[in-house]
Formats: sequence, structure tokens, C-alpha cells
Amino acid sequence: MAIECTHCGVKLADKAVFCHWCKTPVPRVIEQDPTKRLRWLKLWSYVFLPLFCVLFGLLAVQNQMPWLWASLAALFSGVTALGLHQHKRWGWTLNWAMVTAVGLTLAGVLAFDDSGRFVNKLFLTVPMMGFLWFWPNYVYWRKRSVLFT
Ligand SMILES: [Zn+2]
Repeated sequence: MAIECTHCGVKLADKAVFCHWCKTPVPRVIEQDPTKRLRWLKLWSYVFLPLFCVLFGLLAVQNQMPWLWASLAALFSGVTALGLHQHKRWGWTLNWAMVTAVGLTLAGVLAFDDSGRFVNKLFLTVPMMGFLWFWPNYVYWRKRSVLFT
């Protein structure tokens, strides 16, 4: 089976790890089992981000949230989803801001107690979300960097 460089299209040896022409890594591991390895990417780009987009859009229309912030959040989610869908490098880059924003939001939400009172435990929830949310995402998206050009 002949393979081609995903970046420049040059024919590569079957065992190539890097393209000998442009030095792009060969996304071999990902290609071997695309359905399993791209599950989170698909869930994130086609379910969560569009959901955020609609949700913030509704919040903006209903004035439940400062209009400008809700609109920006909706726009941001939508544009990131589009960039990821098109496998654009800027989508991948923008996604870091998206992942960070979601992690910080979750950390903020967790800092409220059962009665809805804000308790100052961000010193606990921010590192917790960093560990449980940002770190796994960081590893995941870094590995899939080759898919975005
Ligand atoms: Zn190449």
C-alpha cells in the first residue's frame, strides 16, 4: 500500500515516519483506527460546540446573559466548530482557547455550593479542572495536530 504525505502529496515508503520532502509526520496511528481515535474530536466538533453555539445564541436572544458576551461565546463556538470540521490549522489553534474557556467555566461552576452561593474554592477547582479536563484534552489535541493543516 503506497501512502502519500498529507501535507505535500509526495509518495512515501510504507514505513515512513516523516515525509522526506517537507518533514510532516505521517499520521499513521490515527489512520489505523479512525473511528475509535476520532470519537472525542467528532463529539466535540459536531455535538458540543454546535450545542454551545445554539445555547449561547438563545441566551443572547433572551437577554439571560449580557448580550455581547453571549453573542461572542456563540460566535466563538461556531467558528471553532467550523475550523475543526474543515481541518484547518486555525481551528485547531482556536480550539485551545475554547478548551481553556470551558475548563475555567467548569471550575467556576464547581465553585458554587448546593444553595447556589459562590464559595471561594477556585484554588481547588481550577487545578482540579486542569488535571481532569485540560490535561487529557491537551494530550488528545496535540496528538491530532497532524490532521490540521
Ligand atoms: Zn511532505
